[in-house]
Amino acid sequence: MLSGERCLPAGIFQPDGEVVNRIFPFLCLESDGWMRFQVRQVLCKLQVFWFEEHRGHICCPRCGGVELIRKGWRERRPRSSRGILRVDLLQANCKYCGRTFRPFKEQVGLPFGKRSLDELSEKGIQLGISLSFGKASSLLKHLTGGSLSAGSIRTHIAREAGRIRLPSDVGDRTVLVDATKVRATTKKRGESVHLAITAEPGPQVHNRPTINKQLLHLHVGGVEKLRRRLEQIRPERLVHDGESSFRKEAKRIQRCLWHIPHLLGYYLYLSGVPIKERRRYQKRLRSILRAHDGDAYDTLIQEMEEAGLTHGVTHLRNARTEAFTFLEEKFSYTTTSPLEREMRELNRRADVGARWSIKGIENVLKVLMHRRLNQKHPEHEK
Ligand SMILES: [Zn+2]
Repeated sequence: MLSGERCLPAGIFQPDGEVVNRIFPFLCLESDGWMRFQVRQVLCKLQVFWFEEHRGHICCPRCGGVELIRKGWRERRPRSSRGILRVDLLQANCKYCGRTFRPFKEQVGLPFGKRSLDELSEKGIQLGISLSFGKASSLLKHLTGGSLSAGSIRTHIAREAGRIRLPSDVGDRTVLVDATKVRATTKKRGESVHLAITAEPGPQVHNRPTINKQLLHLHVGGVEKLRRRLEQIRPERLVHDGESSFRKEAKRIQRCLWHIPHLLGYYLYLSGVPIKERRRYQKRLRSILRAHDGDAYDTLIQEMEEAGLTHGVTHLRNARTEAFTFLEEKFSYTTTSPLEREMRELNRRADVGARWSIKGIENVLKVLMHRRLNQKHPEHEK
């Protein structure tokens, strides 16, 4: 019970003071109902007035005839977040060819062809890119007067994903690429989501540095699609983690400075090097990279070769030409960490316990990341 609220006499309203609170939802419903009724009436009057005003200028869509007579009303029931609205559309009949049509529909531009209004589908999309479709659907029903099934939220998101056109012009901005796994198809380890973004330092907000990011590409599956996209974009500068080679797709390439020592640990583990030893090699490599010391890098390779650590040697040799590119060319970032932050957000939505289809997860993630990075809504500001 709220402070100051009193129980009403039991004879009038029985159990407790909650009755008072129940009046407000009741009033909301009543005012909505009244408003709906008014709007319906006004729209009818407006259509009759408009029809009489324009008589002789409205043409039949089939034969172009202008001799029309009114022929009743057609009810439309679009879903909105305040429940189902009822709207009557004036019908006209062509005296010449007999065609019946609704001339006002095009005039007002109201989407009566759709089953739900855009504002409701938009709310469904917003919830569906953050939560599972089932949860999104029940939350929408709980918070608004409208409802969309889990299936139609999925359909709205797929339609939205199909409309997205990602930017291709990166200028001389640094492009970061990386991949993460999501539970999709029947493959045990799931499928890879490949992402490409640009990242540049942004302004200080509340004394903290920000990063301006833009989504360039997102797909689920093999790396080839990302390659084709990069060929199209032709980035001047590219940072990657070393999982695949992008020598053909970009002019200047920087290997992620966090991933080189990180992966070295894995390759040394393959050669059976004990953990303490692995840590030592990694620490040494980190300080070499920090000191921009190419000679020390080569010495390390030589030493490891003598110790017979072939996996690690191959890894460092492959990374050698891309380890110090940032010394000659200005890269805004030399690690893929601005992208890792986005990967976490992406995994949060993808890991809902369901097995996704490739297209299903791709659609959701594309809309999610496009809205996060390319369309700055206030609720997406970090
Ligand atoms: Zn006609």
